[in-house]
Amino acid sequence: MRGNPNRTPQQVAEIWGHLCRMARVECKAVAWPPAMDEVHRANRRRYAQVYVPRGPLELATAARKLPDQHLLGVLAHEVGHLYLAQAHGIPDHTEDEADVGAFEALGVAVAYDRTWPGKGLQYASSAPRRVWGLFR
Ligand SMILES: [Zn+2]
Repeated sequence: MRGNPNRTPQQVAEIWGHLCRMARVECKAVAWPPAMDEVHRANRRRYAQVYVPRGPLELATAARKLPDQHLLGVLAHEVGHLYLAQAHGIPDHTEDEADVGAFEALGVAVAYDRTWPGKGLQYASSAPRRVWGLFR
């Protein structure tokens, strides 16, 4: 697991765009609002949120430094939210259901790293090779 990659916002947005295309979901551009940095400062496990049904995806600056496995877990979870809303017409669903959506849409198994507080932080415990390929 690689640490501190410090990706550019463009690199993260590209990965996100590819994931959305693979899942056949529509999403408005990635946004990096200062308010999301505030949310992350208040709760260390909150790096991202997405507005259903079509975005935007909002990210905290700190997300750029997550290890690949964790960034993929976080982004796949958010894709799961869009997928449930768009492909299944279920805009109101649970956080656990978003993980099921991530697996159905992308084949990414989302698990939780308990070294982060509370429920822990999403990470991809397994993912298809073509998905890992986005991180090279
Ligand atoms: Zn969620």
